[in-house]
Amino acid sequence: MSYAYDDQNIFAKILRGEIPNKTVLETEHTLAFEDIQPQAPVHVLVIPRGAYVSYDHFAAEASDAEIVDFNRAVAEICRQTGVQLGNGGFRAITNAGENGVQEVPHFHLHIMGGRPLGRMLQ
Ligand code: 5GP
Repeated sequence: MSYAYDDQNIFAKILRGEIPNKTVLETEHTLAFEDIQPQAPVHVLVIPRGAYVSYDHFAAEASDAEIVDFNRAVAEICRQTGVQLGNGGFRAITNAGENGVQEVPHFHLHIMGGRPLGRMLQ
């Protein structure tokens, strides 16, 4: 499988500083910022700086350092935003491709919390 990355997608522009964002956390390989249309009191998007289209692309081709950095960033964001386990908790989701209804073709993880989110799967 080859993954075609469109470097004109909106998150690529955010990474290049061409579009502003409300940054929550910056690390060597990862950027996290507030979703422009939040679905919950906490709604943060976590993205790798590398050019990965989707979670499967990232998981297959990112370096160990990028993957560790991304996951440690998730933990830090949960702590910083106060949604960590034991403090209400959160939902983390990622959409991929057509069936996943992915809007922006740069891998991103949604972290949502701050209110009861309801059951997602029946
Ligand atoms: P997807 O449907 O691809 O999983 O989610 C894309 C998310 O990106 C949506 O929740 C949408 O609100 C958010 N989004 C789209 N454009 C922008 C933008 O320019 N800035 C920020 N911060 N979020 C955006």
